[in-house]
Order: sequence, then structure tokens, then C-alpha cells
Amino acid sequence: MKQSLLFVPTLKEAPKDADVKSHKLMSRAGIIKQVAAGIYTYLPLGYKVIKKIEEIIRQELDKIGASELLMPALQPKDLWDESGRWDKYGPELMRLTDRKDRDFCLGPTHEEVITQVVRDYVSSYKKLPLALYQIQTKFRDEMRPRFGLMRGREFIMKDAYTFSETEEDLERWYKLFTKAYIDIFKRCGLDTKIVSSDVGQIGGDEADEFMVMSEVGEDTITYCDKCDYAANQEHSLLNSGDKCPVCDGTIHTAKGIEVGNIFKLGTKYSESMNGKFAGRDGKPQPMIMGCYGLGISRTLMASVEQHSNEDGIVWPKEIAPFKVHIVPINLKDEDQYKLAYEIYESLKSSGIEVLIDDRAERAGSKFKDADLIGIPFRVVVGKDAKDLKVEFTDRLKGEKELVLASEILTLI
Ligand SMILES: [Zn+2]
Repeated sequence: MKQSLLFVPTLKEAPKDADVKSHKLMSRAGIIKQVAAGIYTYLPLGYKVIKKIEEIIRQELDKIGASELLMPALQPKDLWDESGRWDKYGPELMRLTDRKDRDFCLGPTHEEVITQVVRDYVSSYKKLPLALYQIQTKFRDEMRPRFGLMRGREFIMKDAYTFSETEEDLERWYKLFTKAYIDIFKRCGLDTKIVSSDVGQIGGDEADEFMVMSEVGEDTITYCDKCDYAANQEHSLLNSGDKCPVCDGTIHTAKGIEVGNIFKLGTKYSESMNGKFAGRDGKPQPMIMGCYGLGISRTLMASVEQHSNEDGIVWPKEIAPFKVHIVPINLKDEDQYKLAYEIYESLKSSGIEVLIDDRAERAGSKFKDADLIGIPFRVVVGKDAKDLKVEFTDRLKGEKELVLASEILTLI
């Protein structure tokens, strides 16, 4: 794509109310724009990254046999009365009334809607198990929205729900989703820890969270320096220096951003909402449920927290908005013009997502923008163009080298 046609409104200064590194960088790099407290527009570059994260999620969940559907954001109060959560959820539930004075909410989560969908169609054990997921905008009326995409009032999530006949089958799904989440976050370039947690507002029997270690995290994680043990401090009540409850290692603490959470719901919703099916003995029994959330806009934010330096973002390869950024220093120079567009066309025809900075800007400001928006591979076409050579940078490794234009395909 030609950069002159792409809408990337970069800024010299971050907005005053941007309070963490990722929020500052994403505002300056033209990734997101704040509309009101906790509400954002994803600008073209940011939306490209969101779509890449969504595609990774779809690939990994399709692999384990989950099917995608889309439920409404707008949910009637009746369903929330059935589960008893209309009164319990509190002021964080975004509530509204229609012209006939009927109550609705904008869903922060979809247990009620999915339980209604499945109970209305599934009447026998023969139709189980089922795993369903959606990618949907969620709403939460935060008292104090902050930290950019970390605590917003509107955010994008993937939520999945499983319906099983037995506890063993729920356990099987729980393990499948755990593995899928590990793979998803790895492909998004995120280093996560799995920590056991409280069940909180969702309810149920057992829960784990996927945490990205970061100083801006809102949760404190206690983890062992020797084994895989990790838990939310609220849950473990351990402190730095304590003995590990599992091995003879020592406990450390760190801040974490929660990017995913998985719950064994058990029969909490199927009991209250009559989600029953005829079992093998013909008797009605409640479906055993699991639910699995993954914050997509938060994953974007956590990725920028983990992958950036003082000059800008350095996107992990799989979620980068483009793979290669061609920066010609002077397009009025015939050699540079010709070589830059030759590389551009050849990468495009090889199916590589490439951005060329064809703007009539000075080299200095082109480089500043390139550093900010953080595309993993950079090709600078300058005075060596007459010898068909360019400066190639792998930004993740930080290595720069002079190479022949014909070698680029082998380097990326
Ligand atoms: Zn340990």
C-alpha cells in the first residue's frame, strides 16, 4: 500500500490524558483515537492489527472444534432476571430503556444469551458436546476508565462457551482452551503466565487467568522462581520471599495485565435458566458449562507495552499491520524511484504486505514516522540504489545491513 493513501495521523506529542506507555505510543502512532473516556476509534493501522489478532484466534479455535456465531450486544432484562444477575451485577452493567419502557443492557458478557440459544435447540445428550464462540464488542460502565485500552467502557472480546454432558468432558474442553490460548498469545508475541484466580462476577467452580507481566498491570501475581506455580495475590495470599506451596522454590511478585480468563461454570447458568437435556437414562440433567474470555483490544495494548522502545512500537511479526516498510530517501532521484517501486511490486506479487512511503516528506520525518509505527522489516532506498543496494533492518533484532535488493525476499 502507498503511505500517501493510508490514513496514519501521527502526532509529535501524546495527548495529555494518555497515562501509560502503550496509550501514548498508540495515540502518537495513529493506532487509536480517544472519543470519550474509555471509548476509542481504531484507526486504519490499529484496526489492521485487531483483524490479525482475530484471525489468529479463529484459526486456533477452529482447530479445537469450536464454531463461531455472533450474538447481539443489546440484551433484554428478562434473560438477566432468569440468571438473577440483573440485580446482582451492579452499576458496571450498562443499562438502558427503550421507547416502551422495557429494560435492556449492553452486554459485558454473554452467558445468558448463549444459555438461551443452546437450551432452545439441544434436548438430548446426543447433541453434546458443543463449543461456541463469538468476537463481539462488550460494554462496562467503568467508574474510572483508564490506561487506554486496558480499562475501557467499550472493548472487543472473544468469548467462548462449552456445553458438556459430564465433568470429564468439561475438563477436556478446559485443557483444549488452555492450550489454544497459549498458542494464540505466543503467536501474538506475548509472554503470558497462567495464574489461578477467583471466580468473581461470572461465578462457577474454578478459574484461571492469562497474565502479561507489565508494570502497568492492575493485578499482583505471585509466582515461583523454580516451578510453574503462579496465582493472583488476592487468591494465594502469598508475599514476596514466601516459600512456594508446591516446591521448595521462593515466591516473587509482579504486576500483570489480564488478557484472558477461563472458567469452569459448572451448572450455575443451566440450573437457573433451565438449560437441561435428556441424559442417557432419559432423565433431565443440567448442561455443564465452561466459559473462556480473551480481550482482543487488551491484547493489542499489552503487545505494545511489551514490544516498544523510546522511538516507537516494534510489532511482533504475526500481528504487524504490514510486514515490510520501504522508505525511499529521495523519490526525485531516478535510481531510487525505480528500485523502490521494483522492490514494492516484487514483494506485493509474492503476497507480502508491504507499505511504501511515497509521501513528499523530508527523510528525517519519514524515519521518525517509520520508527513510531513499527513495521518489523525496513528497507531504506538511498544513494546505493545505483548499485541496486538498500539498507535492510530487522527491527526485532535491531540489525542493519547493506544488501542487494534481490536478497530481500530471503531475509524476511
Ligand atoms: Zn514452586
